[in-house]
Amino acid sequence: MEALKRAARMEHIHSDIRGPLYLKALEMQKNGEKVLKLNTGNPAVFGFELPDSIRKAMEESADKGMAYCDFRGMPEAREAICEYERGKGIRGITMDDVFVGNGVSEVISFALLPLLNDADEVLLPSPSYSLWGNTVYLAGGRPVFYTCDEQAGWFPDLADIRSKITPKTKAIVVINPNNPTGVLYPKEILQEIVNVAREHGLMIFSDEVYDRLILDGKQHVSIASLADDIPVVTMSGLSKSHFLCGYRCGWMVISGPEKLTEEYRQGIIQMTSMRLCANALAQAAIPAALKDMETPRSMTRPGGRLYEQREAVVKELKKIDGISFVKNDSAFYIFPKLDVKKFGITNDKVFARDLLYSKKILLVPGSGFDWKDPDHFRIVMLPEAEELAEAVRKIGEFLDGYQQH
Ligand code: PLP
Repeated sequence: MEALKRAARMEHIHSDIRGPLYLKALEMQKNGEKVLKLNTGNPAVFGFELPDSIRKAMEESADKGMAYCDFRGMPEAREAICEYERGKGIRGITMDDVFVGNGVSEVISFALLPLLNDADEVLLPSPSYSLWGNTVYLAGGRPVFYTCDEQAGWFPDLADIRSKITPKTKAIVVINPNNPTGVLYPKEILQEIVNVAREHGLMIFSDEVYDRLILDGKQHVSIASLADDIPVVTMSGLSKSHFLCGYRCGWMVISGPEKLTEEYRQGIIQMTSMRLCANALAQAAIPAALKDMETPRSMTRPGGRLYEQREAVVKELKKIDGISFVKNDSAFYIFPKLDVKKFGITNDKVFARDLLYSKKILLVPGSGFDWKDPDHFRIVMLPEAEELAEAVRKIGEFLDGYQQH
Protein backbone atom coordinates (compact mmCIF):
# COMPACT_ATOMS: atom_id res chain seq x y z
CA MET A 1 0.00 0.00 0.00
CA GLU A 2 1.21 3.50 -0.81
CA ALA A 3 1.49 6.11 1.91
CA LEU A 4 -1.77 8.00 2.35
CA LYS A 5 -1.99 11.40 0.72
CA ARG A 6 -3.93 14.37 1.97
CA ALA A 7 -6.80 15.40 -0.30
CA ALA A 8 -5.84 18.24 -2.64
CA ARG A 9 -8.57 20.47 -1.22
CA MET A 10 -6.71 20.57 2.13
CA GLU A 11 -3.97 22.65 0.54
CA HIS A 12 -5.85 25.88 1.19
CA ILE A 13 -6.95 25.15 4.73
CA HIS A 14 -5.26 27.06 7.53
CA SER A 15 -6.00 27.37 11.21
CA ASP A 16 -3.27 29.49 12.75
CA ILE A 17 -5.06 30.03 16.05
CA ARG A 18 -4.14 26.44 16.86
CA GLY A 19 -1.31 26.16 14.34
CA PRO A 20 2.41 25.23 14.64
CA LEU A 21 3.19 28.13 16.96
CA TYR A 22 0.47 27.01 19.35
CA LEU A 23 1.96 23.50 19.37
CA LYS A 24 5.36 25.04 20.10
CA ALA A 25 3.85 26.97 23.03
CA LEU A 26 2.38 23.74 24.42
CA GLU A 27 5.81 22.11 24.16
CA MET A 28 7.39 25.05 26.00
CA GLN A 29 4.78 24.69 28.75
CA LYS A 30 5.46 20.98 28.99
CA ASN A 31 9.12 21.83 29.53
CA GLY A 32 8.15 23.97 32.51
CA GLU A 33 8.14 27.41 30.82
CA LYS A 34 5.33 29.83 31.69
CA VAL A 35 3.65 30.95 28.46
CA LEU A 36 0.82 33.46 28.27
CA LYS A 37 -1.43 32.15 25.50
CA LEU A 38 -3.33 35.02 23.91
CA ASN A 39 -4.31 33.00 20.86
CA THR A 40 -7.85 31.75 21.53
CA GLY A 41 -11.09 33.47 22.47
CA ASN A 42 -11.91 30.92 25.17
CA PRO A 43 -13.18 32.85 28.22
CA ALA A 44 -13.50 29.90 30.63
CA VAL A 45 -9.73 29.33 30.72
CA PHE A 46 -9.25 32.90 31.96
CA GLY A 47 -11.47 32.55 35.01
CA PHE A 48 -14.83 33.49 33.51
CA GLU A 49 -17.04 31.22 35.57
CA LEU A 50 -20.14 29.26 34.64
CA PRO A 51 -23.09 31.65 35.14
CA ASP A 52 -25.52 30.50 37.87
CA SER A 53 -28.41 30.72 35.38
CA ILE A 54 -26.75 28.02 33.27
CA ARG A 55 -25.67 25.80 36.14
CA LYS A 56 -29.27 25.50 37.31
CA ALA A 57 -30.64 24.72 33.81
CA MET A 58 -27.97 22.09 33.24
CA GLU A 59 -28.70 20.31 36.49
CA GLU A 60 -32.31 19.97 35.43
CA SER A 61 -31.49 18.79 31.89
CA ALA A 62 -29.42 15.70 32.75
CA ASP A 63 -32.12 13.16 31.87
CA LYS A 64 -33.95 15.24 29.22
CA GLY A 65 -30.85 15.37 27.01
CA MET A 66 -30.30 11.64 26.66
CA ALA A 67 -32.14 10.95 23.41
CA TYR A 68 -31.38 12.20 19.89
CA CYS A 69 -33.51 15.30 19.57
CA ASP A 70 -35.04 16.92 16.48
CA PHE A 71 -32.28 17.47 13.88
CA ARG A 72 -33.08 21.19 14.01
CA GLY A 73 -32.61 21.27 17.80
CA MET A 74 -34.66 20.98 21.00
CA PRO A 75 -38.01 22.80 20.66
CA GLU A 76 -37.46 24.87 23.85
CA ALA A 77 -34.09 26.02 22.53
CA ARG A 78 -35.45 26.90 19.07
CA GLU A 79 -38.36 28.81 20.56
CA ALA A 80 -36.01 30.81 22.77
CA ILE A 81 -33.69 31.55 19.81
CA CYS A 82 -36.63 32.56 17.64
CA GLU A 83 -37.87 34.98 20.29
CA TYR A 84 -34.35 36.36 20.74
CA GLU A 85 -33.76 36.92 17.02
CA ARG A 86 -37.23 38.44 16.58
CA GLY A 87 -36.35 40.77 19.43
CA LYS A 88 -33.39 41.85 17.31
CA GLY A 89 -35.80 42.92 14.59
CA ILE A 90 -35.64 39.88 12.29
CA ARG A 91 -39.19 39.60 10.95
CA GLY A 92 -41.24 36.70 9.64
CA ILE A 93 -39.32 33.88 11.34
CA THR A 94 -40.69 30.91 13.28
CA MET A 95 -38.94 28.18 15.23
CA ASP A 96 -38.86 26.13 12.01
CA ASP A 97 -36.39 28.65 10.61
CA VAL A 98 -33.97 27.92 13.45
CA PHE A 99 -31.28 25.22 13.30
CA VAL A 100 -29.16 24.50 16.37
CA GLY A 101 -25.65 23.16 15.87
CA ASN A 102 -22.54 22.16 17.79
CA GLY A 103 -21.28 25.72 17.85
CA VAL A 104 -21.40 28.34 15.12
CA SER A 105 -18.46 26.38 13.70
CA GLU A 106 -20.77 23.56 12.71
CA VAL A 107 -23.60 25.67 11.32
CA ILE A 108 -21.16 27.52 9.04
CA SER A 109 -20.66 24.20 7.19
CA PHE A 110 -24.37 23.48 7.20
CA ALA A 111 -25.03 26.87 5.65
CA LEU A 112 -22.33 26.81 2.96
CA LEU A 113 -22.29 23.22 1.74
CA PRO A 114 -25.87 23.15 0.44
CA LEU A 115 -25.36 26.43 -1.44
CA LEU A 116 -22.11 26.21 -3.35
CA ASN A 117 -21.35 24.50 -6.62
CA ASP A 118 -17.74 24.12 -7.71
CA ALA A 119 -16.00 27.47 -8.22
CA ASP A 120 -18.91 29.53 -6.91
CA GLU A 121 -17.58 32.63 -5.19
CA VAL A 122 -18.32 33.95 -1.72
CA LEU A 123 -17.29 37.44 -0.65
CA LEU A 124 -15.51 37.33 2.70
CA PRO A 125 -14.02 40.08 4.84
CA SER A 126 -10.27 40.49 5.14
CA PRO A 127 -9.21 40.30 7.90
CA SER A 128 -11.48 37.39 8.63
CA TYR A 129 -12.08 34.46 10.97
CA SER A 130 -10.35 31.77 8.91
CA LEU A 131 -13.02 29.10 9.38
CA TRP A 132 -15.14 30.98 6.85
CA GLY A 133 -12.57 30.82 4.04
CA ASN A 134 -11.67 27.24 4.95
CA THR A 135 -15.29 26.13 4.76
CA VAL A 136 -15.88 27.85 1.43
CA TYR A 137 -12.91 25.86 0.05
CA LEU A 138 -14.15 22.60 1.55
CA ALA A 139 -17.54 23.22 -0.04
CA GLY A 140 -15.84 23.49 -3.44
CA GLY A 141 -16.24 27.26 -3.63
CA ARG A 142 -13.74 30.09 -3.89
CA PRO A 143 -13.36 32.74 -1.20
CA VAL A 144 -12.95 36.24 -2.61
CA PHE A 145 -11.78 38.67 0.04
CA TYR A 146 -13.06 42.23 0.33
CA THR A 147 -11.03 44.70 2.36
CA CYS A 148 -12.07 46.06 5.69
CA ASP A 149 -10.44 49.46 5.76
CA GLU A 150 -8.38 50.27 8.83
CA GLN A 151 -8.34 53.97 7.91
CA ALA A 152 -12.15 53.86 8.03
CA GLY A 153 -12.31 52.19 11.46
CA TRP A 154 -12.07 48.71 9.91
CA PHE A 155 -15.47 49.02 8.22
CA PRO A 156 -16.03 47.05 5.01
CA ASP A 157 -14.92 48.92 1.88
CA LEU A 158 -18.13 49.06 -0.17
CA ALA A 159 -16.35 49.99 -3.40
CA ASP A 160 -14.07 46.97 -3.00
CA ILE A 161 -17.08 44.70 -2.43
CA ARG A 162 -18.73 46.02 -5.57
CA SER A 163 -15.57 45.64 -7.63
CA LYS A 164 -15.26 41.96 -6.71
CA ILE A 165 -18.74 40.82 -7.70
CA THR A 166 -18.77 38.48 -10.70
CA PRO A 167 -21.43 36.24 -12.29
CA LYS A 168 -20.10 33.48 -9.98
CA THR A 169 -20.71 35.41 -6.74
CA LYS A 170 -23.34 33.77 -4.57
CA ALA A 171 -23.14 35.47 -1.18
CA ILE A 172 -21.61 38.14 1.04
CA VAL A 173 -20.36 37.20 4.51
CA VAL A 174 -20.47 39.80 7.26
CA ILE A 175 -18.77 39.14 10.61
CA ASN A 176 -20.30 41.67 12.99
CA PRO A 177 -18.94 42.22 15.62
CA ASN A 178 -15.78 41.35 13.83
CA ASN A 179 -13.07 38.90 14.73
CA PRO A 180 -10.13 39.83 14.64
CA THR A 181 -10.72 43.61 14.67
CA GLY A 182 -13.26 43.76 17.52
CA VAL A 183 -15.19 46.38 15.58
CA LEU A 184 -18.97 46.77 15.52
CA TYR A 185 -20.57 47.91 12.26
CA PRO A 186 -23.07 50.77 12.32
CA LYS A 187 -26.50 50.48 10.74
CA GLU A 188 -25.51 52.72 7.79
CA ILE A 189 -22.74 50.35 6.68
CA LEU A 190 -25.02 47.33 7.03
CA GLN A 191 -27.69 49.12 5.01
CA GLU A 192 -25.19 49.70 2.21
CA ILE A 193 -24.21 46.03 2.20
CA VAL A 194 -27.92 45.15 1.96
CA ASN A 195 -28.22 47.52 -1.02
CA VAL A 196 -25.32 45.79 -2.80
CA ALA A 197 -26.81 42.34 -2.09
CA ARG A 198 -30.20 43.48 -3.37
CA GLU A 199 -28.78 45.00 -6.56
CA HIS A 200 -26.81 41.86 -7.41
CA GLY A 201 -29.20 39.16 -6.17
CA LEU A 202 -26.81 37.88 -3.47
CA MET A 203 -27.68 36.22 -0.20
CA ILE A 204 -26.07 37.30 3.07
CA PHE A 205 -24.44 35.28 5.87
CA SER A 206 -24.10 37.18 9.11
CA ASP A 207 -21.84 35.74 11.82
CA GLU A 208 -23.00 37.45 15.03
CA VAL A 209 -21.42 35.20 17.65
CA TYR A 210 -20.25 38.33 19.57
CA ASP A 211 -23.57 40.19 19.35
CA ARG A 212 -24.03 40.38 23.13
CA LEU A 213 -20.51 41.65 23.83
CA ILE A 214 -20.88 45.32 22.95
CA LEU A 215 -18.89 48.08 24.67
CA ASP A 216 -19.23 51.86 25.03
CA GLY A 217 -23.04 51.93 25.17
CA LYS A 218 -23.36 50.99 21.49
CA GLN A 219 -26.05 48.72 20.06
CA HIS A 220 -25.70 45.73 17.81
CA VAL A 221 -27.84 45.72 14.66
CA SER A 222 -28.60 42.41 12.94
CA ILE A 223 -28.26 42.90 9.20
CA ALA A 224 -31.29 40.60 8.64
CA SER A 225 -33.47 43.20 10.39
CA LEU A 226 -32.72 45.55 7.45
CA ALA A 227 -33.34 43.01 4.70
CA ASP A 228 -36.82 41.41 4.72
CA ASP A 229 -36.62 40.83 0.97
CA ILE A 230 -33.21 39.11 0.93
CA PRO A 231 -32.27 35.59 2.06
CA VAL A 232 -30.11 36.00 5.16
CA VAL A 233 -28.64 33.34 7.42
CA THR A 234 -27.93 34.86 10.85
CA MET A 235 -25.67 32.92 13.20
CA SER A 236 -24.95 33.24 16.89
CA GLY A 237 -24.22 31.10 19.93
CA LEU A 238 -23.28 30.95 23.59
CA SER A 239 -19.53 30.36 23.44
CA LYS A 240 -18.56 33.95 24.00
CA SER A 241 -21.41 35.76 25.79
CA HIS A 242 -21.88 33.05 28.44
CA PHE A 243 -18.34 31.58 28.41
CA LEU A 244 -19.61 28.19 27.18
CA CYS A 245 -17.14 27.39 24.37
CA GLY A 246 -17.00 23.75 25.45
CA TYR A 247 -20.77 23.25 25.36
CA ARG A 248 -20.73 23.75 21.57
CA CYS A 249 -24.00 25.70 21.42
CA GLY A 250 -24.61 27.68 18.24
CA TRP A 251 -27.45 28.31 15.85
CA MET A 252 -28.54 29.79 12.56
CA VAL A 253 -31.80 31.38 11.53
CA ILE A 254 -32.96 31.65 7.92
CA SER A 255 -34.93 34.76 7.03
CA GLY A 256 -36.18 36.26 3.79
CA PRO A 257 -38.94 35.39 1.32
CA GLU A 258 -39.89 31.72 1.50
CA LYS A 259 -40.05 31.31 -2.26
CA LEU A 260 -36.39 32.34 -2.49
CA THR A 261 -35.15 30.14 0.36
CA GLU A 262 -37.28 27.01 -0.01
CA GLU A 263 -34.94 24.81 -2.03
CA TYR A 264 -31.83 25.96 -0.18
CA ARG A 265 -33.59 25.18 3.10
CA GLN A 266 -34.12 21.60 1.88
CA GLY A 267 -30.34 21.36 1.51
CA ILE A 268 -29.89 22.56 5.10
CA ILE A 269 -32.41 19.97 6.24
CA GLN A 270 -30.41 17.28 4.41
CA MET A 271 -27.19 18.45 6.07
CA THR A 272 -28.58 18.70 9.61
CA SER A 273 -30.67 15.55 9.52
CA MET A 274 -27.87 13.31 8.27
CA ARG A 275 -25.82 14.07 11.39
CA LEU A 276 -28.92 13.29 13.55
CA CYS A 277 -28.74 16.19 16.03
CA ALA A 278 -26.56 18.58 17.96
CA ASN A 279 -25.55 17.85 21.55
CA ALA A 280 -28.97 17.68 23.20
CA LEU A 281 -27.80 18.08 26.80
CA ALA A 282 -26.09 21.41 26.17
CA GLN A 283 -29.16 22.89 24.50
CA ALA A 284 -30.79 23.32 27.91
CA ALA A 285 -28.37 26.23 28.33
CA ILE A 286 -29.92 28.15 25.44
CA PRO A 287 -33.28 29.31 26.94
CA ALA A 288 -31.53 30.01 30.26
CA ALA A 289 -28.76 32.05 28.64
CA LEU A 290 -31.06 34.06 26.41
CA LYS A 291 -33.02 35.10 29.50
CA ASP A 292 -29.79 36.04 31.24
CA MET A 293 -28.55 39.16 29.49
CA GLU A 294 -27.07 40.40 32.76
CA THR A 295 -24.08 38.05 32.39
CA PRO A 296 -22.75 39.68 29.19
CA ARG A 297 -23.82 43.16 30.32
CA SER A 298 -21.95 42.87 33.60
CA MET A 299 -18.76 42.17 31.61
CA THR A 300 -19.08 44.97 29.08
CA ARG A 301 -20.09 47.97 31.19
CA PRO A 302 -17.41 50.18 32.84
CA GLY A 303 -16.09 48.21 35.81
CA GLY A 304 -16.83 44.90 34.01
CA ARG A 305 -13.94 42.65 33.06
CA LEU A 306 -14.11 42.99 29.27
CA TYR A 307 -14.37 46.77 29.48
CA GLU A 308 -11.51 47.17 31.96
CA GLN A 309 -9.30 44.67 30.13
CA ARG A 310 -9.76 46.56 26.86
CA GLU A 311 -8.94 49.84 28.63
CA ALA A 312 -5.76 48.35 30.11
CA VAL A 313 -4.56 47.07 26.73
CA VAL A 314 -5.31 50.31 24.92
CA LYS A 315 -3.51 52.39 27.57
CA GLU A 316 -0.33 50.32 27.22
CA LEU A 317 -0.48 49.96 23.43
CA LYS A 318 -0.53 53.78 23.10
CA LYS A 319 2.90 53.91 24.72
CA ILE A 320 4.57 51.66 22.14
CA ASP A 321 6.51 53.39 19.43
CA GLY A 322 5.80 51.67 16.10
CA ILE A 323 2.31 50.39 16.92
CA SER A 324 -1.00 51.96 15.93
CA PHE A 325 -4.49 50.56 16.34
CA VAL A 326 -8.23 51.06 16.06
CA LYS A 327 -9.82 50.79 19.52
CA ASN A 328 -12.30 47.93 19.50
CA ASP A 329 -15.87 48.57 20.63
CA SER A 330 -17.07 44.97 20.85
CA ALA A 331 -15.92 41.39 21.46
CA PHE A 332 -12.52 40.99 23.16
CA TYR A 333 -10.06 41.36 20.31
CA ILE A 334 -7.83 44.14 19.07
CA PHE A 335 -5.81 44.00 15.84
CA PRO A 336 -2.84 46.41 16.14
CA LYS A 337 -0.66 47.48 13.25
CA LEU A 338 3.12 47.23 13.27
CA ASP A 339 5.37 49.76 11.57
CA VAL A 340 6.99 47.14 9.33
CA LYS A 341 9.60 49.57 7.97
CA LYS A 342 10.78 50.50 11.45
CA PHE A 343 11.12 46.86 12.51
CA GLY A 344 12.17 45.42 9.13
CA ILE A 345 9.28 42.97 9.31
CA THR A 346 8.57 40.98 6.17
CA ASN A 347 7.06 37.89 7.78
CA ASP A 348 4.48 38.18 10.55
CA LYS A 349 4.80 34.51 11.53
CA VAL A 350 8.50 35.10 12.25
CA PHE A 351 7.55 38.14 14.34
CA ALA A 352 5.09 36.02 16.38
CA ARG A 353 7.66 33.24 16.75
CA ASP A 354 10.38 35.66 17.91
CA LEU A 355 7.97 37.16 20.46
CA LEU A 356 7.01 33.72 21.75
CA TYR A 357 10.65 32.69 22.22
CA SER A 358 11.72 35.98 23.73
CA LYS A 359 8.77 36.96 25.98
CA LYS A 360 6.74 33.74 26.21
CA ILE A 361 3.64 35.39 24.79
CA LEU A 362 1.61 33.64 22.10
CA LEU A 363 -0.23 35.86 19.60
CA VAL A 364 -1.78 35.06 16.24
CA PRO A 365 -0.23 37.05 13.36
CA GLY A 366 -2.49 38.85 10.88
CA SER A 367 -1.85 36.30 8.12
CA GLY A 368 -3.82 33.83 10.26
CA PHE A 369 -6.86 35.98 9.50
CA ASP A 370 -6.51 36.09 5.72
CA TRP A 371 -4.80 39.46 5.94
CA LYS A 372 -2.32 39.90 3.10
CA ASP A 373 0.35 42.17 4.61
CA PRO A 374 2.75 41.09 7.40
CA ASP A 375 1.86 44.11 9.54
CA HIS A 376 -0.78 43.05 12.08
CA PHE A 377 -1.38 40.74 15.01
CA ARG A 378 -4.36 39.96 17.20
CA ILE A 379 -4.49 40.24 20.99
CA VAL A 380 -7.13 38.22 22.86
CA MET A 381 -8.07 40.45 25.79
CA LEU A 382 -9.33 37.80 28.19
CA PRO A 383 -6.78 37.63 31.05
CA GLU A 384 -7.30 40.04 33.96
CA ALA A 385 -6.41 43.70 33.26
CA GLU A 386 -3.10 43.71 35.15
CA GLU A 387 -1.82 40.58 33.43
CA LEU A 388 -2.77 42.01 30.06
CA ALA A 389 -1.11 45.35 30.81
CA GLU A 390 2.07 43.50 31.76
CA ALA A 391 1.89 41.45 28.54
CA VAL A 392 1.55 44.56 26.40
CA ARG A 393 4.47 46.18 28.23
CA LYS A 394 6.52 43.10 27.37
CA ILE A 395 5.51 43.39 23.71
CA GLY A 396 6.78 46.98 23.90
CA GLU A 397 10.10 45.82 25.43
CA PHE A 398 10.42 43.16 22.74
CA LEU A 399 9.84 45.66 19.95
CA ASP A 400 12.30 48.15 21.38
CA GLY A 401 15.27 47.56 19.06
CA TYR A 402 13.65 44.58 17.25
CA GLN A 403 14.89 44.12 13.70
CA GLN A 404 13.67 41.14 11.70
CA HIS A 405 16.26 41.69 8.98
N1 PLP B 1 -17.36 32.83 14.28
C1 PLP B 1 -16.46 33.66 14.78
C2 PLP B 1 -16.31 35.02 14.17
C3 PLP B 1 -15.64 33.28 15.85
O1 PLP B 1 -14.73 34.13 16.32
C4 PLP B 1 -15.79 31.99 16.39
C5 PLP B 1 -14.92 31.52 17.48
O2 PLP B 1 -13.97 32.14 17.87
C6 PLP B 1 -16.76 31.14 15.84
C7 PLP B 1 -17.53 31.60 14.79
C8 PLP B 1 -16.99 29.76 16.37
O3 PLP B 1 -17.79 29.80 17.51
P1 PLP B 1 -18.40 28.50 18.17
O4 PLP B 1 -17.68 28.29 19.47
O5 PLP B 1 -19.85 28.83 18.38
O6 PLP B 1 -18.20 27.36 17.25
